[in-house]
Amino acid sequence: MPAEQNKEEKMLEEYKAKTRGSAKLFEAAKQVSPGGVMAGIKFFEPYPIFMRHAKGAHMKDVDGNDYIDYLMSYGALILGHGNEQVRRAAEQVFEKFGTTVTGTPSEIEVEYGTLLRDLYHPGGLIRFTNSGLEATLLAVRLAKAYTGRSCVAKFEGHYHGAVEHLLVSYNSPMSKMGDPERPEPVSDSKDVRDETLSESLILPFNDWESTESLIVERAEELACVILEPFEEGVIAGTPGFMRNLRKLTTDLGIPLIYDEVKTGFRVRIGGASEFYSIFPDLTCLGKIIGGGLPVGAVVGSQELMEQLGQGAKGRGGVFHSGTFNGNPMTLSVGKATIDELRSGDNFMEICVRTKALKDSISTSLSHHRIPACILGEGGMFNIYITEGQVINYRDVQSSDLRFRRLLDMGLLNGGVYLKPTNRFCLSLAHSDDDIRVTGDKLEAVLDELGPPIPKRT
Ligand code: PMP
Repeated sequence: MPAEQNKEEKMLEEYKAKTRGSAKLFEAAKQVSPGGVMAGIKFFEPYPIFMRHAKGAHMKDVDGNDYIDYLMSYGALILGHGNEQVRRAAEQVFEKFGTTVTGTPSEIEVEYGTLLRDLYHPGGLIRFTNSGLEATLLAVRLAKAYTGRSCVAKFEGHYHGAVEHLLVSYNSPMSKMGDPERPEPVSDSKDVRDETLSESLILPFNDWESTESLIVERAEELACVILEPFEEGVIAGTPGFMRNLRKLTTDLGIPLIYDEVKTGFRVRIGGASEFYSIFPDLTCLGKIIGGGLPVGAVVGSQELMEQLGQGAKGRGGVFHSGTFNGNPMTLSVGKATIDELRSGDNFMEICVRTKALKDSISTSLSHHRIPACILGEGGMFNIYITEGQVINYRDVQSSDLRFRRLLDMGLLNGGVYLKPTNRFCLSLAHSDDDIRVTGDKLEAVLDELGPPIPKRT
């Protein structure tokens, strides 16, 4: 048996021995929900771990194992689990407001809406939704209505939520992606229609020449260009690429949409917009702005956003609604989160700890002669095992994802939680000690995995 396969089996055995309660619950879960999960992303092989409690930077599973948590609910929890200010904000909704929701406007919509609008689009307007996908869906609808066009330009490997119109070429297999300079639109879900594929223009991230010629070629059809300004939340667009994209879309009158669901309040307080000082027409937010409750928002220029205004009731505008939009509980908890994050040096502290962990991982990997790129800004990063550069989706697919999975399985067994191959997201609750312990655990896993240096896949 090849040595790596041997190690993988040993790790799997260890995982199964430690998580018998999760295995049992997963069997029960499969009886009530398809695939045993309520969101596709929650599954990983051989079965996911069921958590019972979380506090600060730690989670405890149903078998009593303790983990340092770097998932932080896919980045949504920037203050950590059960933050005191957040808890108090939730309690005050009951104490002061008396209920969770009224179905009417409430003061917190104006208060929190103003705060987010001023940070992300001063002079613009905001609309809350209940998830990131609802935000991207709304932003694209606004762009389509504004331009009267229907083709959506998006980048290969960029995720914008589980919505039919955007489930194109975010998770394509290498074999179907086609020419790197003219990527094929590839369906990511069985329900994606042929019309959706033909109304999708797929662009290669960080390749300006190809991106420019593809946009120019179909400019007359394009309703918008939407992107994750940091692919996977961590792979930055080069400043030149971002500047050129902004200029070209402005010149051609194509709305530019930043999907900042991952990067908002993580790469900077003002997200990727602040990082690049390059601003889109519409920004989609989610995750952190709900403080751990379901949320999304679109914030952007008056011109695009006011299509949703009172006048939108008839055919003159864009209809958008939702029973829970602007939910007072969500907005109160979200605002408490943002207030705490912006207080004193809190955000900077998260960035400093994140950098300490990145440095420690980088040192360990090079000490073990494992070639890697560690990418990300602010409070989030990811590791790519590769000798090459990582500037877009195809580079990610060419990196050694198998070795990375082994590494993450080893970390899980050692009590460090991340969804295998996913990003590391830190929080205000992570301590210097958590960072040190994580570094020690990584060293132990790397010792166990040992040489040889992984090959590129
Ligand atoms: N856009 C991006 C960039 C995301 O990362 C996500 C979720 N990970 C979404 C949209 C969808 O957000 P939600 O899961 O809240 O629907």
